[in-house]
Amino acid sequence: MEIKYILDIIYLVASVTFVIGLKMLSHPDSARKGNLYAAFGMALAIVGTIFLYNHADGYTTREPIKIILILAAIGVGTIAGWLTASKVQMTKMPELVSLFNGMGGACAAIIGLMEYEHNLGKTGALATIIAGLIIGSVSFSGSVIAFLKLNETMKKPIRIPSYNILNTVVMIALILFGAYIVYAQPEHLLLVVLLFVFALVYGVLFVIPIGGADMPVVISLLNSFTGLAAAFGGFLYQNQVMLTGGILVGSAGTILTLAMCKAMNRPLSNVIFGAFGGGAAASSGAEVNGSIKDISISDTAILMNYAKKVVIVPGYGLAVAQAQHVIHELELLLEERGVEVVYAIHPVAGRMPGHMNVLLAESNVSYDKLVEMEDINPQFATTDVVLVVGANDVVNPAAKTDPSSPIFGMPILDVENATNIIVNKRSMNAGYAGIDNLLFYQPKTSMLFGDAKGVLAKLVSELKQM
Ligand code: NDP
Repeated sequence: MEIKYILDIIYLVASVTFVIGLKMLSHPDSARKGNLYAAFGMALAIVGTIFLYNHADGYTTREPIKIILILAAIGVGTIAGWLTASKVQMTKMPELVSLFNGMGGACAAIIGLMEYEHNLGKTGALATIIAGLIIGSVSFSGSVIAFLKLNETMKKPIRIPSYNILNTVVMIALILFGAYIVYAQPEHLLLVVLLFVFALVYGVLFVIPIGGADMPVVISLLNSFTGLAAAFGGFLYQNQVMLTGGILVGSAGTILTLAMCKAMNRPLSNVIFGAFGGGAAASSGAEVNGSIKDISISDTAILMNYAKKVVIVPGYGLAVAQAQHVIHELELLLEERGVEVVYAIHPVAGRMPGHMNVLLAESNVSYDKLVEMEDINPQFATTDVVLVVGANDVVNPAAKTDPSSPIFGMPILDVENATNIIVNKRSMNAGYAGIDNLLFYQPKTSMLFGDAKGVLAKLVSELKQM
């Protein structure tokens, strides 16, 4: 069999592993295996390309020096990726995702810079190269800014006056500049480098005004950009696996973006034209009147022990405290005593899509116990006790009642409809959106202050004694 066909079969197998892997990621039980399948497919495609690829002009990587250089680069990337990913805390995962996504964008941009001169005279190929270069560069610089925002190096959104108009003008200018290069096909690389820098600047302008609660949408959108840029690379090299991988990332990112827009009640146009939403600490929210009420561990234990139904609302603080195991212990203990316990899962609770699902799956909480927002909201009216653990924005009624709030319009968990609301957090500090939460001041709400892990452990031992 000709080498080319063997490579085609390898690419087909790799593409199939991507699709199967992606499908398996949709359930926590199979997600780890799915990830491994897709990684195996990718490794197969890389090895196949290095050893079996022949370009029409006779170019091949099957030369010792090239193989050494490629393996050295793969080695450096693998070690760096392995060390970072294995050390990163779960709560820092979105930062890592945005950084890795930026690397993908940078690769697509570099492909554009490298391939431009080789493809002069071929308008179709040049259009693909320029599109990949623009999208990859925007994705790279945008992801770096997203990374800096998430690790709080850049705390506040930077708002240039009329940023919305400015961003739209810059975006149109960027597209026109790219189109001009494809049309004029200048022999010198200088204009292409200028386009690259221009796209990097646009990526920065696109992300810097965005802050607070809208960040996840942006990361997911940039992820879909990187997928698109990689798909352009697949077109260019007529490489099916690169094309499939790029399309899968692009479409998965787009679906996630749309799902998150829906969850946060933001139209996609708001995201695409940049500079939207409120920033962290952008507003203090509604004026706070009233006082808060504390509850002791023993009173909480009594309330929960005699409840018929308890809904646990996990949030970012649960992940910070690493209290997923002890909360599962609490759930099992209450169930032993005939209390019905479920978890209310908000789509953007925590710091990454699916954060709470992954966290609770780690402690073997049954997947059926996780109830999505739309399904749990009608159930709060018949709930005796809601235990909010380290969640804040996702239970903030300002999203429904205060049009001046940066999270206004975001669907929230309607915990205030329950008979008793107990909120565990360490202080009265704000959550991600940087705003006060009037829920904490309502007569039905009691505050159970302390680190989630410690408080839940005490609650468990108190319950055991009852
Ligand atoms: P929030 O960030 O609104 O609130 C978390 C709360 O947890 C804080 O108020 C904090 O209060 C408390 N906390 C922190 N550490 C502990 C601890 N050790 N023990 C107990 N409590 C603790 O979290 P939510 O999950 O409610 O909302 C998520 C927010 O993040 C939303 O605004 C969302 O839009 C945004 N976001 C979501 C992403 C996603 O994809 N899921 C990505 C990026 C942002 P205190 O300091 O007083 O303890």
